[in-house]
Parts: sequence; C-alpha cells; structure tokens
Amino acid sequence: MNNQDQALIFELTKPGRTGYSLPDMEVPEAALEDLLPESYIRKTEPGLPEVSELDIMRHYTALSKRNHGVDSGFYPLGSCTMKYNPKINENVARLAGLAHIHPLQEEETVQGAMELLFDLQEHLKEITGMEEVTLQPAAGAHGEWTGLMMIRAFHEANGDTERTKVIVPDSAHGTNPASATVAGFETVTVKSDETGLVDLEDLKRVVGRDTAALMLTNPNTLGLFEENILEMAAIVHEAGGKLYYDGANLNAVLSKARPGDMGFDVVHLNLHKTFTGPHGGGGPGSGPVGVKKDLIKYLPKPVLVKEGDRYTFDYNRPDAIGRVKPFYGNFGINVRAYTYIRTMGPDGLKAVTEYAVLNANYMMRRLAPYYDLPFDRHCKHEFVLSGKRQKKLGVRTLDIAKRLLDFGYHPPTIYFPLNVEECIMIEPTETESKETLDAFIDAMIQIAKEAEDNPEIVQEAPHTTVIKRLDEALAARKPVLRYEKKEPVTN
Ligand SMILES: *Cc1c(COP(=O)(O)O)cnc(C)c1O
Repeated sequence: MNNQDQALIFELTKPGRTGYSLPDMEVPEAALEDLLPESYIRKTEPGLPEVSELDIMRHYTALSKRNHGVDSGFYPLGSCTMKYNPKINENVARLAGLAHIHPLQEEETVQGAMELLFDLQEHLKEITGMEEVTLQPAAGAHGEWTGLMMIRAFHEANGDTERTKVIVPDSAHGTNPASATVAGFETVTVKSDETGLVDLEDLKRVVGRDTAALMLTNPNTLGLFEENILEMAAIVHEAGGKLYYDGANLNAVLSKARPGDMGFDVVHLNLHKTFTGPHGGGGPGSGPVGVKKDLIKYLPKPVLVKEGDRYTFDYNRPDAIGRVKPFYGNFGINVRAYTYIRTMGPDGLKAVTEYAVLNANYMMRRLAPYYDLPFDRHCKHEFVLSGKRQKKLGVRTLDIAKRLLDFGYHPPTIYFPLNVEECIMIEPTETESKETLDAFIDAMIQIAKEAEDNPEIVQEAPHTTVIKRLDEALAARKPVLRYEKKEPVTN
C-alpha cells in the first residue's frame, strides 16, 4: 500500500480536479435565487474533495481491502454466526420482480412477494414449533422487545399487572436484559451452576407471582444444552409466567429440536445469523417472532393472511401491540432467508446442525490442552475457553484476540459471557472446511506457546495490520468522525 492510499480523500484534493465531465449547457443557467428560498442557499463552499474518478476508485477500493468479512476470511465470532452467505440468495433478492417493487403498491400487484413472505412464515412455524409468526421486527433485539411487549399485553389483559419481572440467566446475551428493561420490566438474574446450566434451585427461588417471563436461549450462550428445559418450563408455567426463547443462533437445533416442543411460548429468530443473511456492520437484519396460540391476538399489525388464493394484510387487530416496523419488515433479508430454506430443504438444515456441532466440538477438543476449558462437556454450535492460564503469564485474552489479527483471522468474542473469567467464545459455524478449522487451531496453539516463551509478541500485537493497537475505550467514547481541515497538503 503506497502513501497515497493512506491519505484521506480530502487530502488527495487538487483544486479544480473533477471526477466527471458534462457537456456545455445549451440553455441559460437558472439563478439559484429563483429556485430556492434565500435561507436555503449556501453561502460558503462545502469543501468537498476534488479528485479524479480513477483516484476516487483507487481510494475506496484500497479502503475496502482493509475490511474483514466472511468472504475474505475465517470469522469465528461467538454468538454471532458469521457463516457463509450463499450467493444464490443475492441473485434471488436482485430479481427485478422482487427488488423493484414498492412497499406502497396495491396488494393485487404484489401477490407473489406476499406469497413468498407467507411461505417463509409457514417454514419458520414448522422450524420453531410455533403457531403464528410475524416478520416485522428488524433484528434480534427488536424481536425480543416485540415478544416481551406481547407477553406484557397478555398479562395485562388477564389483570395480572403485578407481573413486572423478567428472569434472565447470568450467561444471557446482553440484549435480553436490555430488551426487558425497554419493555418496562425489571430483570432478575438466575444463576448458572458449575456445569454451566441454569441452577434449578435458584430458578425456584426467583420465580413467583411477579414473574412475567423467563428469557432463555437453548443451547445457552456458553454453547451448552439446557437439558432440564422441560422441568424449567413447568416451574415457570406453574407460576403463571411465559417462556421466551432467544433463537438468534438456531444452528445447534435446526431440524433436530424445536423451541415450541421445549415449552416456549415466544421465540425470535435472527434470519441474518442462522438463515445466512449477510450481517455485521449494521444490517439490515430480520428478527421474526413466533408465538403460541394464546399470544396470537397480540401480534403486531398488520398480520399477513391468506384468504383462498389471495394474500392480504389484516389491520383489523384490536388487541395488537401496534406496529413495530414500517411496512412488513426488511423484505430483502426475508427473501434471502426464504431462498436459503428452500435451497437447503429439511435434510440440508439437519446437516447444518450436525456440522455446526461437529465443528465446534472438534475445535474445542483440539484446543483444550492449551487453554482452560471451564465446562468440560459436549458443546453445541459454540464453546467457551478461558484465558486464565495465559493471564498468569501476563498475557490477557485481549492480547490473544489482537494476536489473531496477525494470522488474518477475525478474533472470537471475548469477555462474554460475563460469568466466565477471561472468556474466549468461539463459533466456527458449519460452513468452514476442516483445513480452515485446523489452520485456526494451529494459530491458537502457536499463540498459547508464545504466551509462555515470548509474551511480548502477544502483548504488543497486532504487528501486521495497517493500524496497530487502538486505545479501544478512547476510540469508542471519543471517535473522530469528521474531517477537519488543518492545512493544505502539498506534494
Ligand atoms: C445476536 C444475538 C442477539 C441480538 O440480535 P441483533 O440482531 O444483533 O439485535 C440476541 N441474542 C443472541 C443470543 C444473539 O446471538
């Protein structure tokens, strides 16, 4: 990468240089004052970069090469499911009949698109064991909030206004307590036991007449299957609460087990994770919510229904919690998920689960001699290691993550879940080859050895990236997002 590539686009400016050329005007130029109110007219130049088309191409192409994505390398970010996004999804989403329709078109003119959404809902009902599904929520956390608002409406309709508490395990994804809080609930933590599962005695202790719901993911965020789920469901239902399933990462149970059969009343899915929507860097996502019978009437409106051969949106839903998204969700990402489900078929989805679990267990067992394994049992689609041993040598988990950048990998999730010290959470996903898994394992083993023999190389990593180690707190809290011109660049 040459010096020019590292400059900001503003610094590449040569006054008067443009990236376009237009023919001379054949008509007199209209005066701005005749077109716009005086107050809208700019008094000073905006100071935009002045560069040629070729320079601008090179600048942004160089920047794009610094990006890391699933298409450029392994991305084992736990609880994120960075798996391959099949390109056939993109082809289908770009079909003119799907990509060029407008959300305000008459229903008669978009029956095919509505059929696709309806079929997707039917597939998701079957996959989750739920009785109705909405595709409106735009992401996982949005689905959580939507589901909790429905649970709230259900309790209120029953006069159960004292149900103000949502129980979440200490290993829960951060969005769970956040969504519960935004939905107006208080969160209560239930502890995990030494095997990494919800402590049943503690659950019995915290459950009661004030319980609105238990929010859970299964397998949990440590990648472990909550084998007492039926007993847990009975405890919560007996107390009058509902069970909420965080189904963001379904690759561990897809086509094998269904939240509906485990006793859950509400579930959200992340189509941008499990169902191969490209994600990371902000979306767009899709977080459909499925419910059992007694929550159907609270679904956000409109509800997509089929009457004979015709699809229509039903707005006449007096008990609905309202709308949660303009129109009917993020259409493009739903098209991709539909394509994925149809191309995989039931057997394909079963294979997804088997490979996701096999890959995670293979990697966990091969790394276990080199890193602490807090829960020494079969994992599902992901697993956690602890960097405790390396910390004693002065190498923190953050250092290990930074060192992985030198090997060309996106680091795993670190310091999460919170109940594991120096946590390293790895989700290899089912789409990676054994060669890729082995290469990553070798890198992790090399780093473990470096921590013993040559800790500085890990502590000072990364060594090969464009930007070396950032002050992460400063970068997050005081990001410099605006270009401020200092002095003209001369070269
Ligand atoms: C990713 C994730 C979420 C949040 O989903 P978003 O789409 O990022 O809002 C919730 N729970 C779990 C377990 C997740 O992995």
